[in-house]
Amino acid sequence: MDTPDSMQAMVLEEANHPLRLKTIPVPSPNEQQVLVKIIACGVCRTDLHIVDGELNKPKLPLIPGHEIVGVIVKKGREVTTLDEGDVVGIPWLGYTCGKCKYCRTGKENLCENALFTGYTIDGGYAEYTVAYEKYCFPLSEGYATASGSPLLCAGLIGYRSYSMVGDHVTNLGIYGFGAAAHILIQLAIYQNKRIFAFTREGDKDAQAFALNLGAVWAGDSAQSPPEKLDAAIIFAPVGNLVPQALMNLDKGGTVVCGGIHMSDIPSFPYKILWEERVIRSVANLTRKDGEDFFKLVPKVPIKTETEIFPLQKANVALDNLKSGNVHGAAVLVM
Ligand SMILES: [Zn+2]
Ligand SMILES: [Zn+2]
Repeated sequence: MDTPDSMQAMVLEEANHPLRLKTIPVPSPNEQQVLVKIIACGVCRTDLHIVDGELNKPKLPLIPGHEIVGVIVKKGREVTTLDEGDVVGIPWLGYTCGKCKYCRTGKENLCENALFTGYTIDGGYAEYTVAYEKYCFPLSEGYATASGSPLLCAGLIGYRSYSMVGDHVTNLGIYGFGAAAHILIQLAIYQNKRIFAFTREGDKDAQAFALNLGAVWAGDSAQSPPEKLDAAIIFAPVGNLVPQALMNLDKGGTVVCGGIHMSDIPSFPYKILWEERVIRSVANLTRKDGEDFFKLVPKVPIKTETEIFPLQKANVALDNLKSGNVHGAAVLVM
């Protein structure tokens, strides 16, 4: 397939500055990589943390974006499982070493030498990108659109968080009802969970959205739900929510913090942690998470709600995400 020499990309040159639209060369894949013509790329809260300088040491200049859906247009010589024309999703985890103690014990999400798409390697706010074959997920045709992109991070991180809540969970609280929550709720209900959705105070739209998707209860994050929770997942980057969630948790329950960045967690009385309650975080994803998740996606089947922005409007999409002004997931289309 013919590819042009240059492409448009939205580039971060310095933290705390808006992205700049630039014309730059189309990257070339190395022997283990594929070149992907991007169809769409989701805008994630992590992108916001990178642009705002809350995550340190990004590659600079950087093309952000790690919820990429696209078509392979060229492949490196050692690529064997993917072909030109295949639709793939490219997630946050861009590379792991396979050799460190984490990689060797099934925890490649914690790899010492990992590379992350749209953070330490260039991502998807562009017309083309390269990615390692082993870190691309084949997607079914139905997800070869903007609606597929939120699955690549919001979907995957939600799924990993969900897989950490423990067994025998029926009542599941979700704090922060944005992109990750709207995907996870569909999967969790498919698996017979009862969902209690917590939103920022007075966000009636998000509460209605959650109820529409099948939540049994929706309210403000400071409210107590009508029943004890067996587990809670916090997607909002707000440390205050940790003790609030703990207080609503039944004995033996787990609070999972699903975000990469969170404001400080205030101190709290030991008695709300007592009785074997657990607080934990999740970091990144493994390829196994992706394989398991993408098997379930078409079975549910998961539908995503997206708000579309052209590539050039990436800064507007980021601003809207920051102000909580996005319904479902924000996605850039090329
Ligand atoms: Zn490693
Ligand atoms: Zn993300």
